[in-house]
Amino acid sequence: MSSLLLPNEYVTSIYHIDLQRLWDDGMRALVTDLDNTLVAWGVPDAPKRLVSWLRHAKSLGFAVCLLSNNHELRVATFARPLGIPAIANARKPRHSAYDKALAMVGSDVHSTVMIGDQLFTDILGGNRMGMYTVLVVPVPGREHGGTRLIRFVERRVLKGRQPLTQDPYFPE
Ligand SMILES: [Mg+2]
Repeated sequence: MSSLLLPNEYVTSIYHIDLQRLWDDGMRALVTDLDNTLVAWGVPDAPKRLVSWLRHAKSLGFAVCLLSNNHELRVATFARPLGIPAIANARKPRHSAYDKALAMVGSDVHSTVMIGDQLFTDILGGNRMGMYTVLVVPVPGREHGGTRLIRFVERRVLKGRQPLTQDPYFPE
């Protein structure tokens, strides 16, 4: 199986990402998936912890943008109150989606982190671009119907790899 499917890091949640270390390593932008990465699929609002996490990321200096394959209304409704730019209907893993996101955050592939919960969209696309990729365990809750089969295949690709289970860098 291609290593293009494997992330640079695999963590329990976005709150387990060591943002300070990424910044120190020269990362300057975070491009993140929405559904099952930031919140469960279809959840309309950001919980307080997520709002604080985004504020923290920005305070470190990161430019942040959402890159989602979901439709415009869902993505815009979520992103607007947070004040972060977002791309809907992204059709990840297509290159064009990532190019748009990079333009939006004003960064290049070498200093941009792609965060997502799916190997065949978020991670594959990010790796092909040459971005630093972080896989998160899907936020539990509802998932899109077609996702169940994908999860089965993803587990095969991950071959028993487990996410880092340290305490979150960004506690509750
Ligand atoms: Mg997702």
